[in-house]
Amino acid sequence: MPVAVSTPAHSSVGEPLSYASSVHLTPGTLVRVPLGAREVLGVVWGAPEQAAPLPPGVQPRAVAGVLEGIDPLAPAWRRLVAFAARYYQRAVGEVALAALPPQLRDLGPQQLARRLRRAPAPAHQPAATESVALSAEQASAVAEIHAQPGPFLLFGSTGSGKTEVYLQCVAQALAADPQAQALVMVPEINLTPQLESRVRQRFAPLYGDAAVVAMHSGMTPAQRLKSWLAAHTGAARIVLGTRMAVFASLPRLAIIVVDEEHDPSYKQQEGARYNARDLALWRAREQGARVILGSATPSLESWHASRPPSPGDPRGGRYQRLYMPSRIGAGQLPRVCIVDMGQQPRGAVFSPPLLAAITERVQRGEQCLVLLNRRGFAPVLHCHACGWKSDCPHCSAHQVFHKSDRTLRCHHCGFTQRVPRACPSCGNPDILPLGRGTEQLEEQLAALLRNVITPDRRAARVARIDADTTRAKGALEEQLAQVHSGEVDVLVGTQMVAKGHDFRRITLVAAVQPDGALFSSDFRAPERMFALLMQAAGRAGRDARYVAAQGSPPEMWIQTWHPDHAVYAALRRHDYPAFAARQLAERQEAGMPPFAYQALVRADARTQEAAQAFLQAASDAARAAGLPGLDQVFLFPPVPLAIQRVANVERAQMLLESPQRGALQRFLAAWQPLLHAERPRHRGLVRWLVDVDPQAI
Ligand code: ADP
Ligand code: ZN
Ligand code: ZN
Repeated sequence: MPVAVSTPAHSSVGEPLSYASSVHLTPGTLVRVPLGAREVLGVVWGAPEQAAPLPPGVQPRAVAGVLEGIDPLAPAWRRLVAFAARYYQRAVGEVALAALPPQLRDLGPQQLARRLRRAPAPAHQPAATESVALSAEQASAVAEIHAQPGPFLLFGSTGSGKTEVYLQCVAQALAADPQAQALVMVPEINLTPQLESRVRQRFAPLYGDAAVVAMHSGMTPAQRLKSWLAAHTGAARIVLGTRMAVFASLPRLAIIVVDEEHDPSYKQQEGARYNARDLALWRAREQGARVILGSATPSLESWHASRPPSPGDPRGGRYQRLYMPSRIGAGQLPRVCIVDMGQQPRGAVFSPPLLAAITERVQRGEQCLVLLNRRGFAPVLHCHACGWKSDCPHCSAHQVFHKSDRTLRCHHCGFTQRVPRACPSCGNPDILPLGRGTEQLEEQLAALLRNVITPDRRAARVARIDADTTRAKGALEEQLAQVHSGEVDVLVGTQMVAKGHDFRRITLVAAVQPDGALFSSDFRAPERMFALLMQAAGRAGRDARYVAAQGSPPEMWIQTWHPDHAVYAALRRHDYPAFAARQLAERQEAGMPPFAYQALVRADARTQEAAQAFLQAASDAARAAGLPGLDQVFLFPPVPLAIQRVANVERAQMLLESPQRGALQRFLAAWQPLLHAERPRHRGLVRWLVDVDPQAI
């Protein structure tokens, strides 16, 4: 019978392997099977007659054992895995096994039996929970979601109460069927600890504490197994998780929520490069579940897919768009203040008007958030005498200067060195940082606010949250708690602090250097930037009553050298639809997603020539073979990646584009064996991979 197992990456075995069993095994059964000299976990993938034929004279090896006590995985789950494998060009076994908790592979039968005994039984203890009176916009969104099939795009301003809509819809689905399950997905769970507690508070009193489980990579293997079993057995009614949760075994799935659906972290960046948002849509349709995508700044794909019918386009998009423009409590979105840096004193990090505004807020006891998407003290050290720069010896990138521990660190390969006392190339003792990161911003701001006193008569306090300050477990929670409790007056941080948090006393948000994205080579950079700035703006003035009591409307400050740029003009009006319309028009003109479908093939090799030669050969082979779909798929020439070398590996990529998803898919499927066949002919090639619907180009 066919059994899906995880074969080493890049072996050409894409299909389940054939094994023998003396007893009948239902498809979906978890088994242990021999693979080479090892015994591995596998999933029975079909009936015996569906197994791939073995070469004549070869006998199938026998299934070594069955994981007792675990029901077979449902056909719907296997269809999801099979679809994901096909669509993202990976082996079924790889996708299936990556979707299962790692401990299932590692535990022996007795250990597993013990875990299963400990798995909680479904609890039923109906109890009243506090109900929230919905705003009119919320009520109408909930009613639509109840009445229509969807899929839905909930387009709601930051602070419009999208979470409450999700919770009400989940509550309805769970109340309608005593076995129904809900999947709530968030981009990064660590960044939204509040959501988990809100979900728990709402549903634990109704269905018991065990009915709410989390699923994300920050959990221990034991916790992950526990959550997975709870979902698989139906004991868990609500799974709250990151992208990996889209593969959870949820036999009675009734509703899926994808919060912040535009967030790039829904795209997996290794192995099978799936997009959990897109799989959620597929899964919901296939399993007959409702699906709600939510965002204040939807991805242009989802925005386009939810366009209302118009005279020239009478059918409109496939999704239903729901609007919630108003903030809860009639709060105002912040006023956007654009500072023209061309008019400011040269070299100032904080323009005088921004500094004055921050000072005033702090003196009134309000909090400020300063955003800079670059950590470290300075992106590079520089010698003015000879031109030396702190380049990483292993990458085509600079090493970032971290002042707190006096190191130079490469953010691509991790290579770390002590800061040299003098220029390594000419001996000049005077090497200087160029540019700035969050560490420097924190230091400078603390100095600038040194003499500022808060209403409770203490000195202003500046704190920083980024990947460097939150490495230790629990550090992020602790630092966020300090912000929430009011110990911190100004918070400096990367995009980490711009997302999701329900800060109550922040009334001013500033982006000090956002221009970079305006001129990026990635066509999605403006979209990303707009979303980030809108998100960041959404952190200001979330508590309408606090704002009213303070008497100072919230503000979002942008320091820029391009004050007239269209992106900032749209931002100033909080006008996502206008921004999206412009971007979509440009994309349509240029034939880019969502008006075209893309895939990337990437090759890593010892030399750039070898990497490109592989891609070129693969491209030639496709043409020579006259692959299906080729007439509708455009293959661009191979090019080096923007950061060409990382950890001494040269990287190149080739873009494929087609106006038709189906044509691209047919082409990729037919091409896969040729790519595998090409591999051994290229010495020096380290790896290659296909990325379907890539998020970064
Ligand atoms: P969003 O996710 O759209 O940014 P949230 O769901 O975080 O917004 O809601 C913003 C704030 O408003 C939260 O503090 C939330 O508890 C509160 N809130 C949401 N809906 C209501 C309501 N109907 N009545 C009162 N407060 C609400
Ligand atoms: Zn020098
Ligand atoms: Zn490096």
